[in-house]
Amino acid sequence: MVEADKIFQEYNVKLSPKQLQNFQSYARILEEWNKKMNLTAPQSTESIYRKHFVDSLMMDRVMELNTQSLLDVGSGAGFPALPLKILHLGLRVTVVDSTKKRIRFLEHIAKELQLDMHAVHGRIEEHDQKEDFDIVTARAVASLNILCELCLPFVKVGGYFIAYKGKNFQKELDESAHALDLLGGKIKDIYRYSIDDTDRVLIMIEKTASTPYKYPRKFSQVKKTPL
Ligand code: SAM
Repeated sequence: MVEADKIFQEYNVKLSPKQLQNFQSYARILEEWNKKMNLTAPQSTESIYRKHFVDSLMMDRVMELNTQSLLDVGSGAGFPALPLKILHLGLRVTVVDSTKKRIRFLEHIAKELQLDMHAVHGRIEEHDQKEDFDIVTARAVASLNILCELCLPFVKVGGYFIAYKGKNFQKELDESAHALDLLGGKIKDIYRYSIDDTDRVLIMIEKTASTPYKYPRKFSQVKKTPL
């Protein structure tokens, strides 16, 4: 049996009994579904808590979350959006993923945990709801220069794009200078932390100017000629 409360305490994450219960249900349902389909890479229950739940919650360290609108691009099995929603019920969360089975899973979790959120199936670059969100997040979806093009167009001016990255982030940052410039993003902060001796980083990008409407381009173009 995983001692979930101890894991959260280790990272100084304070939860109410209801929130802890929600994380326990989330882990159980994720493990059940993972037996039938590949939602996340196979891992121990303890890893689900550390590498997915705690990692997702690290955003709390860089900004105060309350009732902002948050779009999670390529949310997969819900990371980081769902753990953040469990902690901050007032957040207005939209998750987008191009895989139908993952969207079905996210809808199921939202129903089971009674979380009010919006799940959208499709590729983000095919959506038109531009400059609409206070915060856009992405974790383990693409390299930063590509993510800038996929995510920054959806952030309001004055809002933030938060990218969850690993230890090789500096190279990705260097390669994103042009994209940031073109799309109206500016690095505001870089928050380093570690989970189980793995170096992690949150790159906080502020949207300081409007993005030209033609972005994001079609994915074939985004990949072939990254900004
Ligand atoms: N963010 C989750 C996490 O950290 O565990 C999932 C990561 S998973 C490796 C990447 C996910 O992004 C997949 O579920 C994939 O379907 C989705 N994805 C990739 N490109 C996308 C795009 N352009 N629009 C929407 N979803 C995308």
